[in-house]
Amino acid sequence: MASCYLCGTGLAKGQGARRNVRTGTSVAGLFSIPPSAFLVALAALVGVKVPSIRSYFGLRTLCPSCTQRLDAQRSLRRKIVLLIVGSIFFITIAAMLSGQR
Ligand SMILES: [Zn+2]
Repeated sequence: MASCYLCGTGLAKGQGARRNVRTGTSVAGLFSIPPSAFLVALAALVGVKVPSIRSYFGLRTLCPSCTQRLDAQRSLRRKIVLLIVGSIFFITIAAMLSGQR
């Protein structure tokens, strides 16, 4: 029987959904730091390239509630990224316009 990758709930056949989830994070290939996924997410949000931090993704089966939570998290992240990208774009345009004289 399959079980949810995130919460471990048992899933009946046909239940659950497949999602690409982070299966692990490693820094400089030396050690694994699952709880500091926040740091990686923050770096990804800010758009900073962190070459020493690697994330591994894989397709895992999730229960409906975890799927819902993950999708909500991702749409929120997408909104934040759009907001940041939008403001950077605006600042860049403003800087270009003020520089044209
Ligand atoms: Zn779950």
